[in-house]
Amino acid sequence: MSGGILIVGAGQAGMQIADSLREEGFEGAITLVGDETIPPYQRPPLSKAYLYGDADEESLQFRNEKFYADNRIELVLGDAIVGVEMHADGGVATTASGRQLQFDRMALAPGSVPRKLEIPGSNLDGVLYMRSITDARALKSRWDDAKSVVVIGGGFIGLEVAAVARKAGKKVTVLEGADRMMARAVCPITSDYFKHAHERRGAEIVLNARIDHFEGDGQRVTGVAMQDGSVIQADIVMVGIGVLARTEVANLLGLELANGAILVDELAQTSHPLVVAAGDAVMLPNPTGADGLVRLESVQNAVDQAKVAAKTLVGKSEAYKALPWFWSDQADLKLQIAGLSTGYDQTVLRGNPDSDAFSVLYYKNGRLLAIDCVNQVSDFMAAKRCLTAGQTIDPGAAADSSVALKTLITD
Ligand SMILES: Cc1cc2nc3c(=O)[nH]c(=O)nc-3n(C[C@H](O)[C@H](O)[C@H](O)COP(=O)(O)OP(=O)(O)OC[C@H]3O[C@@H](n4cnc5c(N)ncnc54)[C@H](O)[C@@H]3O)c2cc1C
Repeated sequence: MSGGILIVGAGQAGMQIADSLREEGFEGAITLVGDETIPPYQRPPLSKAYLYGDADEESLQFRNEKFYADNRIELVLGDAIVGVEMHADGGVATTASGRQLQFDRMALAPGSVPRKLEIPGSNLDGVLYMRSITDARALKSRWDDAKSVVVIGGGFIGLEVAAVARKAGKKVTVLEGADRMMARAVCPITSDYFKHAHERRGAEIVLNARIDHFEGDGQRVTGVAMQDGSVIQADIVMVGIGVLARTEVANLLGLELANGAILVDELAQTSHPLVVAAGDAVMLPNPTGADGLVRLESVQNAVDQAKVAAKTLVGKSEAYKALPWFWSDQADLKLQIAGLSTGYDQTVLRGNPDSDAFSVLYYKNGRLLAIDCVNQVSDFMAAKRCLTAGQTIDPGAAADSSVALKTLITD
């Protein structure tokens, strides 16, 4: 008896796998299992429009009920896959509620979970994370009453929440352990710019922050105590210090991992022939063609890798070659990144950061690798097109912002 395809994880990648399977003409059964209780939804607005009050929960959902019915996608929500038994030509998965789901092939799209900060006081009410709608609801329910917000971690999500909090008139402190913000993703020019831009908008930014513990009144958090003895008052603490891949089901299957994430090849194939994987939980060969493996935590990757996974499932294998890109909206600042800057040996600044509109181009051996754009959508579009086509932009010419970047693209 055919069990069709079982997708574990009803988030960005899981939803896209289901969608793409039908687009690819797959006629069999599709079961999309998610341990969250609402139908698949977009996460990016959680730390932006949803928190600010510009988007409600319903508007976050990818598709309505009719879509799932019309496309014969069985949604199993509020139930996690907790057991799997594999056979030569398929398997049976067990959910937490005891349901048995038979399948021929499995797609893993379990996403990631926030890395927890385990220090004294971390269980106090008001110490919050931001991954799911449940997290966002918890933050929102305390939002209106909170006058001071401390954000731990100057990464994308932390800075987005900080920006919304400033926009809402709250006292905001960002505590970053490193000597600059978003250090894993951008160069010092972009980091420094964002530090000053957030400061100009009223946030206090502390670099090299050394946190000791959380203070509370026995129930709720009231402050963050630093190792130097100072205490920063906080009605809410939002911790954004990175994510860990969810590998519970991969571990049940004994799949090969790399750096704590599910290892796949360029076809999204895991080490088990019947199982593909996509999204935040995955470590994949660098899609830009550079050596090594990468883990990409972005909507673009979840969507493009899911499309590759769906093709593999229907036997139309196509290697993942999509250009990585990303965005982060921090109040009025739109950061867009195209390409991967790892290994760069030169940067070119285009435009003036003081004007809140500029780009930084990253080069290796004179060839364009990546770009960061702040409120420069036309530069982003030009560089994205250039990198997708395997072309470059002369670093000597790129700094002149009076010349449109798209006119500088060469082979
Ligand atoms: C607040 C926030 C803001 C973001 N902003 C941006 C942005 O501006 N730009 C951008 O490019 N990216 C952004 N991202 C990242 C982007 O949302 C993720 O990269 C994307 O959601 C990854 O998709 P995924 O399907 O791998 O994981 P997810 O979307 O997390 O989906 C995984 C789902 O699987 C479920 N699951 C896990 N294990 C099981 C199991 N055993 N059984 C059943 N269900 C399971 C999880 O609960 C989850 O619902 C943001 C993320 C967050 C949290």
